[in-house]
Formats: sequence, C-alpha cells, structure tokens
Amino acid sequence: MEDNIKRSIILDHYQAPRNRGLIEDDSYIKVDTNNESCIDEIYLMVKIEDGIIKDARFDGEACAICTSSTSIMVDTIMGKTIEEAKEILTNFSNMIDEKKYDKEILEEAIVYDDIYKQPSRKKCALLPWWGLEKAIKINEEKNNENH
Ligand code: ZN
Repeated sequence: MEDNIKRSIILDHYQAPRNRGLIEDDSYIKVDTNNESCIDEIYLMVKIEDGIIKDARFDGEACAICTSSTSIMVDTIMGKTIEEAKEILTNFSNMIDEKKYDKEILEEAIVYDDIYKQPSRKKCALLPWWGLEKAIKINEEKNNENH
C-alpha cells in the first residue's frame, strides 16, 4: 500500500472514528487499556454472542495513531468469529514486532506496517488489540463458568 493511501486511511479514522461512544448495556464486556508512554487511554466494549463479535465500541483520550488504530480494529473485527479475531490479532502483533505475518487477513490494519520504524509509537497501535485480547479472555472465563 502506498504511503499517501495509508496516511489518508489513518487520518480518516482519526477524524471520524467508527463506533466511538460508549453505551449502557451489560451484555458487553468492558475493558480499559492505557499506554503510559503516551496519553492513550482507551475504554473498549465488546459484545460477543455465539462466538461472534457482534459489536465493538470505544471511547477515551488517545493520540492519532492509537485512535485510528482502535477505530480500524473495531471496523475489522465486527462480525468476525473469536477465532478469526484472534488470528488477526496475532498477525497484527507479528507485523508490529517485525515477525512473519499474513498481509491478507489484516484488512485496513495493514496501514501500520511500517510503524516499527517509530518504536515509541508501536504501543499506540497495539493498545486496542491488547484490549481486545483482554475482552476475549474475559469472555472465555465467563463461558467456562457457565459449563
Ligand atoms: Zn499514543
């Protein structure tokens, strides 16, 4: 992907984040994540039903990289199964850590493929995905309790 296209996708998600704003609904799993090396503080809420991510929303105070990364993540994971979301998460982390990853499944999240050049910003891009990881874990624990 060309740099100017990447930049315009990031800018678009920063200026008009998808699903920003939390709602009162106990059927969502809520997690907070923050990045001490930046201003980033993200509140994420995810609705998982029958192993599928039905909805994801967020709010908080964050830099352009973190806000856009959260918006892109929300857009990417909605409608996916937990297994699919986990696979995207693994590949996204691998990309940030300069390990082997599958470009095809990352969708728009691929725009951060050269963020490793700015080590201080890696956490900004990863933060929402760590939040998702937490939410998936909470969901698994909840399911185990019910069995
Ligand atoms: Zn940041």
